[in-house]
Order: sequence, then C-alpha cells, then structure tokens
Amino acid sequence: MKYISTRGQCAPVDFETAVMTGLAPDGGLFLPDRIPDVSDKLEKWSRLAYPDLACEIFRLFCGIPRAELKRIIEKSYSAFSHPAIAPLKRFDNLYLLELFHGPTLAFKDFALQFLGNLFEYFLRRSGKELNLVAATSGDTGSAAIAGVKGKKNIRIFVLFPFGRVSPAQELQMTTVLDKNVCCLAVRGSFDDCQNIVKSLLSDLNFRSEFSLGAVNSINWARILAQVVYYFYAYFQVRSLSGQERVSFAVPTGNFGDIFAGYFARRMGLPVARLVLATNRNRILADFFEKGVYERGMVRQTLSPSMDIQVASNFERYLYYRLGKDPAKVRGIMAKFARDGKFTLRDMGLKTRDKLFVAASADTPATLSEIRRCWRENNYVLDPHTAVGVHAAGNFLSGREPMICLATAHPAKFENAVKRALGRDFSRCREQVLHPALEALKKKKTRRFVLPADVDKVKSFIIAGVNDS
Ligand SMILES: *Cc1c(COP(=O)(O)O)cnc(C)c1O
Repeated sequence: MKYISTRGQCAPVDFETAVMTGLAPDGGLFLPDRIPDVSDKLEKWSRLAYPDLACEIFRLFCGIPRAELKRIIEKSYSAFSHPAIAPLKRFDNLYLLELFHGPTLAFKDFALQFLGNLFEYFLRRSGKELNLVAATSGDTGSAAIAGVKGKKNIRIFVLFPFGRVSPAQELQMTTVLDKNVCCLAVRGSFDDCQNIVKSLLSDLNFRSEFSLGAVNSINWARILAQVVYYFYAYFQVRSLSGQERVSFAVPTGNFGDIFAGYFARRMGLPVARLVLATNRNRILADFFEKGVYERGMVRQTLSPSMDIQVASNFERYLYYRLGKDPAKVRGIMAKFARDGKFTLRDMGLKTRDKLFVAASADTPATLSEIRRCWRENNYVLDPHTAVGVHAAGNFLSGREPMICLATAHPAKFENAVKRALGRDFSRCREQVLHPALEALKKKKTRRFVLPADVDKVKSFIIAGVNDS
C-alpha cells in the first residue's frame, strides 16, 4: 500500500515514511492510495478479540511482517486495564463504547500506544532518532507522552495552552519526569499551539536537521488505529441487537476520530449515519448543517479537548468529498487560508453529505446530559461523552442502534462532573475517582512556560536537543 498526499504535490510514499513524517511535504495529509473493501471479511472478523481484529485491519495498510505486527499490537493494548479493551454499555437503543481504559483514560491511548511502539520499531531498524512535536488541548499530550516515555531515540516536546487544560490532564503530562519528555505551557489557545507545531513542521530545513516528527491526529497511523474500534463495536452491537446497520455518535474536535468512522464505512462497514457532535465551537457542525465552514473564535467549554476551530483532519474528508482531486483540495484550502471561510458551493457541490448529521451541546445542555444519565442509568459521563450523548439523542430512531463513543473517563474532568451533579456528587464519587489519577496528585511535576511565539519554541527545542 502506498500513501499519497491530499494536495497531490509529492510522490507516493510507503507506510513507514507516512508514519515517520506525519504531515506530507507539500502541506497535505497522507491517505492510502486505495481503500480495501472488506465487506466479505465481516463474518470472519466478527468473533475476533480486539488485538486480533486490529492485526487483520492493520495488515491491509502496512507492510510490517505479521509476527512483528502482532507483537507491536499486543504490547500496545496490554497497557489497557479492561479485558475487552473497548467494552460496551447498553442503555436501551443507545450504546456507549468505553474507550477510556488505556493508561491516560481517554480514547487517544488507542492510537498513541500503537504509534509509540511503531516509532520504536521503525527507529530500531533505521538507527535514526526522532524529535516529536505535538500540540495538545489536553488528551493528546498525555497519551503521546505515555506512548513514548522512556523509549530510546525518541524525544517529545508537547505544547499545551497554559491554564486551559484540566488539572488532571496537566498532571498526566507534567508528572512524567523521563528525560525524553518535555512539557511546554504556551501562553495562548490550542489553535496557537497547533499553528506553532504546523509552522515548525513546514520549515523543511529545520524539520530535517532536527528529525522532527508529528503525533497529532494528522498522523495516518492514529486514524488507522481508531478504525479498529468502529468494527469491534459494530460486531458487538450487531450480535446484541440483531440489526445489520448501526449509527455512531462521535464527540468531535479535530475530526480525527469521526474520520476513522468515515473511513471504516468506506472500507465497507455498514454505518447508517455518523452523528457529528460538537460543543459551542460549532465550525464542523455548521459545515454539515448549513454547508458553511467558517473559522471563528475558539470558546472555552467544559469539553476542552473539543475546543478547536480549525479541524486538521477535515482535509482528509474534503479530499474524498472533492472526488479525490488534489487540485480542488489545494484550491479550497487556499481559499480557506485567505478568507477563513468556504461553502459547499465553493466546493462545487449542491447537496450535503447524507451520511453525516450534526448537533452541538452548549454548557447547560452538557451539564444536564450528565445529570440525566446519572439519574436514569446510574452512570457518570465525562463532559465530552455528554456532548456526544446529547447529540445522539436528536437522532435516535427505532431503526438502527446508535453507538456513542465514550471518549474519556469522568475522573479526568472531575470539576465539570461536580458542577453537573451538585450534591449528588458525593454519591457517585467512587465512580468518578480513578486510582491512577489520585496517585498523580502526590508526584513531582516539571513544565516550562513559553509565549505563543514560534521562534521562542524553536530555540527551546534546539537547546533541548543539543543538551541531551
Ligand atoms: C481528542 C478528544 C476528542 C476529539 O477527538 P478528535 O479526533 O479531535 O475529533 C473528544 N473527546 C476527548 C475526550 C478527546 O480527548
């Protein structure tokens, strides 16, 4: 399998290059040059354990020998605390897919445990080293750090917006004292962090001199890892409900997780609808509802991992939506860079994509969803999952089951849960606390505060790399 850029201005590369470089040299995102149709494999795959299913799917996309791949996968998912890896909870016709049993209690562990082990495997073979730079609104950073801490030949620099990640998220990053890990608190928004990372990665001289790499959700291997649980959830729900088609509701920020669902559907998974759920940062919801993609100000919400305006993975979707025409992708991305906006009509399209529906939840809706779910099901949602469940509620039908991705454990967002449950909080305390997080509160921390300035960050990285 070869990988091409959404912008079509560089030669196709192999899986290793796509994974090790992250962003394509022409500024585009990597995608496989064709999508395998797996419809005829669904029966065979339906009873596989999670790691075996992952192995079957990954095999289609990367040339790693089976035994090696199996070892990488087993290592990645052995760090999960639940035997099912991605267990399912059922509340009538709504299912929750719990994706928070990895080491940092959010779904990003699915991709970043795998990615860390892939990096290690490729670097061991090539003898090279890699300096990762990542922007995080909270969960990516800690998951990326957990994926690479202590690994040889890898350093990681994580940029997060100062004061805008939850205390638990910050502790999960700053309590890791391994020498190859460096946390940068940037005085700015997540988008500032992401822009700094993008501009570091697009400085080709700097990037090759310092062997920079990306772990952000633009990395193809992350999407690939996330494709697996759409299949896994489908098989479980199909056998529970007897229905052949299912819908998914996905709390969305960078369009990575939901793109994996879109991709699974293109591989032949019978997905009826994808419900795109956002908080008040509605840019993606507006695109699917109104056909307008327009950058706005980032608002802070209770679901900080979704406080994003410009969704870096959206370009992958645009590529398919624009008939796999890289010239059109370049055109629309240039228009967006210029005007901060484009419409369906600018894309030359008349109708919206019926696969997607969208809804958003503001703060009161998020809080009341957490309360409602606690009262009705005795189950505590984290605020991101609450946004998803709220959105799913608009599109429940008697026809197909709805699976909402539960993207984080509520312990990561204790304050939001407290605010939602008020006096009831003490009654669900056991459910909300998590021993792994409690243990962090006593640990030493390390972080560096920097202004939102590319050159300052660059000098910091240069010093860090030369230092060790
Ligand atoms: C990252 C994250 C999201 C958003 O995922 P995207 O792939 O960026 O759309 C949602 N919920 C949680 C808890 C997250 O960490």
